[in-house]
Amino acid sequence: MKSAWSERDARDAAGRYAGHGIGEDLALRVYTTRLLGRDPDLVLHGGGNTSVKTRARDLMGEEVDVLCVKGSGWDMATIEPPGLPAVRHAPLRTLRARATLSDEDLVKLQRANLINPTSPNPSVETLLHAFLPHKFVDHTHSTAVLGIVDQPNSRELCEDLYDGRMGFVRYIMPGFGLAREAADVFDQNTKVEGLILDKHGIFTFGESAREAYERMIEMVTLAEERLRKNRKAVFATAQLPQSAVALADIAPILRGAVALRDEQIEGAWKRLVLEFRTSDAILNFVNGAEVGRYSQAGVITPDHTIRTKDWPLVAPAPDGSRLDAFRTAAREAAAQFVARYEDYFRRNNARVGGGKTMLDPAPQVILVPGLGLFGLGRSKKDARIAADLAEAAVAGITDAEAIGRFSPIGEEDMFDCEYWSLEQAKLGAAKEPPLAGQIAAITGAGGAIGAATARAFATAGAAVALLDRDLAAAEKAAKSVSGASIALGCDVTDLASVTAAFNRVAETFGGFDILVSNAGAAWQGRIGEVDEAVLRASFELNFYGHQRAAQAAVRIMRAQGTGGCLLFNTSKQAINPGPDFGPYGLPKAATLFLMRQYALDYGADGIRTNAVNADRIRSGLLTDDFIRERARARGVSEKNYMSGNLLAREVTADDVAQAFLAQALALKTTADVTTVDGGNIAAALR
Ligand SMILES: [Zn+2]
Repeated sequence: MKSAWSERDARDAAGRYAGHGIGEDLALRVYTTRLLGRDPDLVLHGGGNTSVKTRARDLMGEEVDVLCVKGSGWDMATIEPPGLPAVRHAPLRTLRARATLSDEDLVKLQRANLINPTSPNPSVETLLHAFLPHKFVDHTHSTAVLGIVDQPNSRELCEDLYDGRMGFVRYIMPGFGLAREAADVFDQNTKVEGLILDKHGIFTFGESAREAYERMIEMVTLAEERLRKNRKAVFATAQLPQSAVALADIAPILRGAVALRDEQIEGAWKRLVLEFRTSDAILNFVNGAEVGRYSQAGVITPDHTIRTKDWPLVAPAPDGSRLDAFRTAAREAAAQFVARYEDYFRRNNARVGGGKTMLDPAPQVILVPGLGLFGLGRSKKDARIAADLAEAAVAGITDAEAIGRFSPIGEEDMFDCEYWSLEQAKLGAAKEPPLAGQIAAITGAGGAIGAATARAFATAGAAVALLDRDLAAAEKAAKSVSGASIALGCDVTDLASVTAAFNRVAETFGGFDILVSNAGAAWQGRIGEVDEAVLRASFELNFYGHQRAAQAAVRIMRAQGTGGCLLFNTSKQAINPGPDFGPYGLPKAATLFLMRQYALDYGADGIRTNAVNADRIRSGLLTDDFIRERARARGVSEKNYMSGNLLAREVTADDVAQAFLAQALALKTTADVTTVDGGNIAAALR
């Protein structure tokens, strides 16, 4: 590992922040924190922190000694000065004399000593920084260091490798106890340049930002070199099926297998979004004959447990020619995972005196021999984090096994981190959006109604796939969506295009739950005279387009086995024909019955099927020019034309989107048509 320190960049940072009244200490602290944070071999998703001891003026205008330490919620790669809140140093130091200090009290004391009371909570490792005398202190969970410390003989390995330059701190869970132990180890030899935390990570320190940072790089480099020495060829490969497998087939089967029934609401599932990763390193790991041993031993560093659980689910090796057998075996493996997790929880909860609330027992990482690995989460963001940590675990465990045997903290220590009181306290606080964990695909998503629907579903917490024949329009709409989205070109009149697009959705998110079949276009003509080709073209899009999308959706939904929801955009024309609008209305009427047929045929699979019957929405079908023309022809204002309904209100694409969303959330409603037209008695359903 090379030092990324640049004297010029450091000076620039100091100069830039000086212009904002930030002193050089904090400016350089920000600079090297970013250097550490942007290297995934050192820091991943909050797995590290830094500090600087300096002076600051408190709110009363008095200058005091402070510790600026990384605050929670900040990413080290992009940190700014407010991400390193200043805490009064003197009171923190006195805490070392205490015999015990609970985590709750520690958080309160840290907050009480903040210079700015609106700052984020300082890191849980704050006291460790505070008890050390050095001006700059850096902490990472370097993957290479973990390869050394996750060994049965980690202490000897580190003594041999660092030759007295680093102190060695036995494993203690982060918090007051670890901070005191680390300070005691330092006091035994105050010449050390840093501390190795067994089964956890590494601290380095120095009098300047550069010194602390470059010591980190040097110590990690020594670990990297040690891992290259006397390396065994690891992981003899298991016998795997020869038949090729497609990610798009495997992901929905696994996603369904690990979904949990919601015990509170009949018909509801706790679903997860998937993030797939594969590489030579991952395949080497998941294909190993002993994957069932080394992958199940535990986490490479304790704070991974809240993101990945203590161990991943190892899926059976899929055989592309026997997907049914894979589905059965995957469901069995998932059930065993849940049973094992529940046992682990019961056993350890009893040990700590009960009172903990069990987290969902579903896996957060799945290893698939022959294919790769999946990170899982209630959002795509969480799935990516789990996948990143799983990749780091693959690297760390591979290294550990290459020089010895992977030997992490034990089950009890992992439980204590996973069920740490401060983490449990957050559980009740976080309210999830209603579609968390769900995936929606919307056809015609480049248009007004499709884009509004994508926005509504994303706001409700779903990951969304925006499909449109016009890829640029789908991409533009995707930009207006909050949260995870993907834009895909998809022509619903072409079966191959539909299949390819839905496979991409399954590959990207792991499957999907909600189809909004919205793509359509209007054709006109008097029915007694219209050219058959016009009628056929309209049926191709306005009926067969819906059928193709629904078929592709049902295939994925049945592979998951967790139900789903098909929503169709029919039209007022399906109920109440307009003059010369037969070529449009007839296929829409057929689509209304298509909806009912799916409701009937797939209700037993938990697949709900509904339609929205909207009218007079400003969109690609009803353009501003067309509205102007129709309003003039009727001798009314545009506004009156658009609000010519019982409620005298203009109906918008957002109103239609909300109707789709309501249908997606109504777990006991199927074969329903919701009318969104401001009221039109002639088009009312009987
Ligand atoms: Zn740490």
